[in-house]
Amino acid sequence: MRRVSVFGSTGSIGCNTIDLLRRQGGAATYDVVALSGGRNVTLLAQQARELRADIAVTAYPDCLNLLRQALEGTDIKAMAGADAIVEAAARPVDWTMSAIGGCAGLEPGLVSLQHGGILALANKESLVAAGPLMLETAAHHNATILPVDSEHSAIFQALGAEDVSNVNRMILTASGGPFRDWSRDMLDKATPEQAVAHPNWDMGRMISVDSASMFNKALEMIEAKEFYQVAPDVIEVIIHPQSIIHSLVGFVDGSLLAHMGTPDMRFAIGYALNWPERRDLPVEDLDLARLSKLDFEAPDEVRFPALRLARAVMQTGGLAGAVFNAAKETAYEAFMARRIRFTDMAVYVEQALENADRDGDLKTTTFDLDKVMAADQKARIKTNEAIQL
Ligand code: NDP
Repeated sequence: MRRVSVFGSTGSIGCNTIDLLRRQGGAATYDVVALSGGRNVTLLAQQARELRADIAVTAYPDCLNLLRQALEGTDIKAMAGADAIVEAAARPVDWTMSAIGGCAGLEPGLVSLQHGGILALANKESLVAAGPLMLETAAHHNATILPVDSEHSAIFQALGAEDVSNVNRMILTASGGPFRDWSRDMLDKATPEQAVAHPNWDMGRMISVDSASMFNKALEMIEAKEFYQVAPDVIEVIIHPQSIIHSLVGFVDGSLLAHMGTPDMRFAIGYALNWPERRDLPVEDLDLARLSKLDFEAPDEVRFPALRLARAVMQTGGLAGAVFNAAKETAYEAFMARRIRFTDMAVYVEQALENADRDGDLKTTTFDLDKVMAADQKARIKTNEAIQL
């Protein structure tokens, strides 16, 4: 039986993963080792009972009693805290889903690479903050990282067995989010409620706000550069409001291969779950005649400076990704708490990158988790201080 673990199982990607595991036989097909969640312990316990998991871990120690109660009468082990998630990730499995949101997903994903097998990586922050460390760890332990972000799964599938050295363009599509046509003045006044309402995709709160600010696309640009080890200028972004083309790969002979499908994350999760095979997925077929046309436009890097910042991060390399992500997560929290404006998020991220560069914090030739986490922590503290001023 294939052993699997799902980290972030109660979130948007996590629930879609559980849905696919269930549809593919659930506990009769899979030996579910660990599931992890945050505050939604009722759902976590329900998933663990249904899939007969060995362990269920909540990220929050104050949720442990509730989790224990919800698991009463089973032999599922309840655990809590960030260390417990890492401990669960160290248990050997054949397939792991990394779907914790933000930098909290880095260490569990990294640890799960150490037992080989497949890491289905939804947590883009892992590659943004610590790309070289993730790739080195995977290579060292003979583990395979499969991208789950829809754009990166699309590129992976369009690329097929082609040599990456024949690729001269990786074009990430972006829906443009709910604020695609908004003026700078309107963006200044955007509220958290407006920012979380994505027009095409049903996702967690942070990624939805990141889509509205284009920080999500910025993270994806860095993720693609890190994962495929290509030059920054290979990475392009195009606005495609219908989210039907999930991304494109351009080759040196002028060919452009696109991956198309309905906007349903289960295409990417299912591909990573069944790889290298393809299986039936509960994803609606595209009706091209009904669709009738696809629109494209160039992104506006003035209204959405996150894209410009991503280019700077890709050029700088080193710990710039870790600082960029940490400052972005801190600015996101402040925006959601209505302490800063929507458009201020990019201002604080840019400031964090400039300060870290000035302090010599971005340069490094060697990557280890301590270094990445130190850069992450410092950027969070500095960004919070700047926000409080
Ligand atoms: P969600 O916010 O929906 O889910 C996040 C998961 O992490 C939940 O299980 C949540 O638990 C858990 N969690 C919350 N806090 C912590 C913590 N401190 N430590 C550990 N776990 C915690 O996020 P998404 O599913 O939308 O996104 C997950 C990742 O996948 C992100 O990196 C995102 O960028 C990426 N991604 C998401 C896509 C999508 O369509 N949603 C598409 C492509 C990539 P609980 O809910 O119980 O509190």
